[in-house]
Amino acid sequence: MCGIVGGVTNRDITPLLLDGLKRLEYRGYDSSGLIVLSKKNSFNRARSVGKVKNLEENLRTRKNKIKGNIGIAHTRWATHGEPIEKNAHPHISNNTISVVHNGIIENYLELKDSQIKQGYKFTSDTDTEVIAHAIDFAMQSSDSFLESVQKAITTFDGAYGLGIISPNYPNTIIATRKGSPLVIGIAKNGNYIASDQLALLPTTNKFIFLEEGDIAELNLDKVTIYDKDGIEVNRPIKTSK
Ligand code: GLU
Repeated sequence: MCGIVGGVTNRDITPLLLDGLKRLEYRGYDSSGLIVLSKKNSFNRARSVGKVKNLEENLRTRKNKIKGNIGIAHTRWATHGEPIEKNAHPHISNNTISVVHNGIIENYLELKDSQIKQGYKFTSDTDTEVIAHAIDFAMQSSDSFLESVQKAITTFDGAYGLGIISPNYPNTIIATRKGSPLVIGIAKNGNYIASDQLALLPTTNKFIFLEEGDIAELNLDKVTIYDKDGIEVNRPIKTSK
């Protein structure tokens, strides 16, 4: 289980994602990646094997710079699939959903079989990719991002901390957790997620610790949290010194 950082902000999110990943480097990991929604509302992703400095170099040397106000990032500790670029997160489904995942989806083979029958093509060997396809599939019969994630996660056995974005909902991050930690950082310039508050310390010292099964909807100036039964809840905001 490794690192997640993400956010929706009124500034360029990429430097913050990169800095957050560096702050999570104290945990072992084998690859890293990030994805940002561009101004034209399309996914712009970079992934690199090895240290976060390789991802930094990838970002520095690429022609099309990755810029935008909303994004998610990950350091991966491979559990399913080799530590190679195509297995690094974020994963994408149908150009509609992108996800970063900490943990293990135990029933992924079963889900993968039925998703292949639904017509999904797999581009990685990870358990995580089924999460992206399951949410994309749910979204095809729902006009709510939140409801689509709520529906998809009922099919997962195992542990997850998730950050999810979609060009169809360009102002929103959905975050949820079960058996894997996830914290929300609240700031004047936006709202953030991380697997460890350390990742967000330069940006904020106000945190909400999601409880088991919680699902959160983050926008620039608003965070709404629902419990595992879908009931809107108030979780305390804690200030760290
Ligand atoms: N099980 C996922 C994978 O192998 C996530 C690993 C992690 O928590 O970093 O890609």
